[in-house]
Amino acid sequence: MVKNINLLCAAKSKENQEVCNVRQVNKEKEKEKLVEEKKKHVRHVDQVSSSLFFRYNQSLGPPYHIILDTNFINMAIQNKLEIISAMMDCLYAKCIPCITDCVLAEIEKLGSKFRVALTIARDPRFKRLKCCHEGTYADDCIVQRVTQHKCYIVATHDKALKKRIRQIPGVPIMYVNQRKVMVEQLPESYGCNY
Ligand SMILES: [Zn+2]
Repeated sequence: MVKNINLLCAAKSKENQEVCNVRQVNKEKEKEKLVEEKKKHVRHVDQVSSSLFFRYNQSLGPPYHIILDTNFINMAIQNKLEIISAMMDCLYAKCIPCITDCVLAEIEKLGSKFRVALTIARDPRFKRLKCCHEGTYADDCIVQRVTQHKCYIVATHDKALKKRIRQIPGVPIMYVNQRKVMVEQLPESYGCNY
């Protein structure tokens, strides 16, 4: 009887082992599948961004049209940068800073503390972009513009805006770092600092 129970147990544990083995194999297959899918995803993203670069390179410039937001101007002031020459030092090409009506309205609203920013935004060398929308919410305006016309670089330090711009292929972001203007998402041939 004991022998029989032992045999039964042995058979049971063998069965359990087999179930375990099958589960293990399934798990491994599942893992491989996930890895494979991840690889596919990465390859897919690469293909999209590189093809878009080539497609949009020509419309980007030079001369580069750069839309500035309020906090980029403030950041440039804090870092004592002369905006146009700092941009040209970064891109080694002619740069045309652009200010939308709503960004200008935003700076005007900020009051006398921001008068230096206002003077910069009103610089006649800066191109004014007319707005047809209501209100002064600049982020939506900038996102809409660069989605429709992929010929702009966006200069900003706003985390939320940067995140939104990164979702739009072919639109580089300009920012200030260590008293220099830098740019992300431009091929190295443009001669910018990374
Ligand atoms: Zn606007």
